[in-house]
Amino acid sequence: MAACLPGCPLGIDIPGFIRFLREGDTVLALERIKQENPFPAICGRICPAPCEQACVFQSDGNPISIRGLERFAADFGQSKAEKLSLALGGKKVAIIGAGPAGMSASYYLAKMNFSVTIFEAAHEPGGFLRYTVPEFRLPQKVLDEQFSQLKRWGVEIQTDVVFGRTMMTDELFMRGFSAILLATGAGLPIFSDLPGSSLGGVFYDKEFLYRLQAIKKEDALQAARRQMIGGPNTVVIGCGQSAFDAARLIVRLGGKVQVIFEGFEEQAGVDHDILKESREEGIEIHSIKALEMVGDAAGFVQGVKCRKLDIVDGKNGLKLEPSQDKSVILEAQTVIIANGQRPNDLLKNYLPQLKWDNDGSLWADAQSGMTSIDKVFGCGSVVTGGGSVVDAIAGGKAAAQKIIEYLK
Ligand SMILES: Cc1cc2nc3c(=O)[nH]c(=O)nc-3n(C[C@H](O)[C@H](O)[C@H](O)COP(=O)(O)OP(=O)(O)OC[C@H]3O[C@@H](n4cnc5c(N)ncnc54)[C@H](O)[C@@H]3O)c2cc1C
Ligand code: SF4
Repeated sequence: MAACLPGCPLGIDIPGFIRFLREGDTVLALERIKQENPFPAICGRICPAPCEQACVFQSDGNPISIRGLERFAADFGQSKAEKLSLALGGKKVAIIGAGPAGMSASYYLAKMNFSVTIFEAAHEPGGFLRYTVPEFRLPQKVLDEQFSQLKRWGVEIQTDVVFGRTMMTDELFMRGFSAILLATGAGLPIFSDLPGSSLGGVFYDKEFLYRLQAIKKEDALQAARRQMIGGPNTVVIGCGQSAFDAARLIVRLGGKVQVIFEGFEEQAGVDHDILKESREEGIEIHSIKALEMVGDAAGFVQGVKCRKLDIVDGKNGLKLEPSQDKSVILEAQTVIIANGQRPNDLLKNYLPQLKWDNDGSLWADAQSGMTSIDKVFGCGSVVTGGGSVVDAIAGGKAAAQKIIEYLK
């Protein structure tokens, strides 16, 4: 088999684990993957798989499905390392935030015998993976199973603790922690300046998905429908993964959805498969420019005023420009805005000594991983401003290595 170019941010030995799978040894295949990736069942389901774009082995013109093979190994192999129980007794490290970045850092620190405590603001660990990615793409029980090893190893996870409100830096150092790792993510939506954004029935993607995931009842969808869905038509403005997650959940609520964004389809922030599945589920996808939300006298949204886009020949190739045609109104009793996200201001206000980059993300020294506060490190999307789950896991891994180096 031809080797794959390095395309995995975690550096998984892809030819190596595939070779074990070909020999029918799922246990060794999984162990090979887990040398570099603590959460293969998560990545095997939702990683955007940059490795496949770099893969030189083609089958029928397509790269082999490395992500699918990783999922197979994770679901059917059982790693020996998982059964180990560790007696953690080294220096104490506090991790703030139990998203994939913080959880990954805890894995690598615990493996080197550091005593790790994670402080998480929400009720359960997982970050966006727990509270926004829908069950049909990433079942909650997969998350629980992937994190169970950390608990077995002795990593302590304290939930419902808000760093900067109910837990402070001084207190952590007084309690004997030698380093603090900020892995608080980028959970605040980038607000829209479209007129009508504050009408009733207009939501931001994360808020909408968070509400839906938080209702853990048999009748979650019906309950959500009673609470949030004003009518049969929804327009989602945006083209990233969370725009399509929101759209596909609405379809499961029985609604009709149009996803609109200003750009070519190839510029959408999701892979071709998601676009294809979304269409098969009945979602309409349009390249169109949203101009404003139109409301009724009671202040509820009724539609989105848009302008069609024409394809024109530009200097650097084809581009889209608003058409001279009249504007159109897409009927919608619910509008979901998916504009991206940035870190919230809690850390900024609580620790004014922290340095931030111009794009609003936390500054951390590239070499040492340390922020502008001594012994306080940063990783994950609070530092990168976004990215995928594999980037967050890789960020957590790199930060753990830098903390280990520092504490030596
Ligand atoms: C709807 C949606 C779908 C996505 N789908 C995909 C996908 O298919 N594939 C993919 O690769 N990526 C996907 N992503 C992106 C992926 O979820 C993120 O890259 C990843 O979760 C970032 O990890 P993180 O640990 O840096 O931050 P987060 O996951 O945001 O975790 C940060 C954690 O810190 C906690 N926290 C914040 N402030 C505090 C505080 N003051 N005190 C204590 N705790 C705090 C938060 O509660 C949270 O649990 C998706 C994102 C969304 C929103
Ligand atoms: S984690 Fe993602 S990039 Fe790495 S091998 Fe798996 S699917 Fe590919």
